[in-house]
Amino acid sequence: MEKRTELYRGKAKTVYTTDDPERLILHFRNDTSAFDGEKVEQLERKGMINNKFNNFIMEKLEAAGVATQIDQVLSETETLVKRLQMIPVECVVRNYAAGSLVRRLGVEEGLELSPATFELFLKNDALHDPMINETHAVAFGWASAEQLAQMKTLTFKVNDVLKKLFDDAGMLLVDFKLEFGVDADGNIVLGDEFSPDGCRLWDKETRKKLDKDRFRQGLGGVVEAYEEVAQRLGVAL
Ligand code: 5GP
Repeated sequence: MEKRTELYRGKAKTVYTTDDPERLILHFRNDTSAFDGEKVEQLERKGMINNKFNNFIMEKLEAAGVATQIDQVLSETETLVKRLQMIPVECVVRNYAAGSLVRRLGVEEGLELSPATFELFLKNDALHDPMINETHAVAFGWASAEQLAQMKTLTFKVNDVLKKLFDDAGMLLVDFKLEFGVDADGNIVLGDEFSPDGCRLWDKETRKKLDKDRFRQGLGGVVEAYEEVAQRLGVAL
């Protein structure tokens, strides 16, 4: 597999083309960003941790029947993935109130949500990822109604699998964000990544934050928290 040119540089990952038009390389960098890229820092080891963490989680999801883009791990910070046509809509499931939900609705952080909620956001930094609904996504051609229905079903399935995985390791899966794409055969496939950068995880007993909120809120110990999560799950770093 030959790495060719840089296709896209995101806030925490760089995507490269390869000699296979159907395969891309994801490079997980140490860059950590918040507030739509306004706060950026380099956190030693974070790229490696997120790459390994993401591969561990995606393997669990594949085993549970969720199609993912993962092909093979190439190095400490790089993974070969299937090329997808990404859908610019973020799917968020929440099991407990936190983050933008608390700000938007004035509810108390930590409130258990029953049933878990499902929200859509447009992936657009310049507009600060505004919340949208299904009719916006269809009307503007970002996704079809059928694709959105599949994305919702898959996101709840991911929630079922991961809620239990984290619970067994003494953590609450508070909320998370997923991004999907369409593969060469037209199937909806889970893309992007699943790591503590894009979810909230709290210790079950103390509710200590173990995710990117440590960075967003300047709590310190960001990489140490990511390492603790990995260690509790048995991810080899
Ligand atoms: P909130 O809407 O509360 O800001 O985020 C809900 C969940 O989705 C959190 O776990 C958050 O980390 C994740 N999330 C939402 N938008 C983004 C994003 O643009 N990038 C990343 N990495 N995570 C996001």
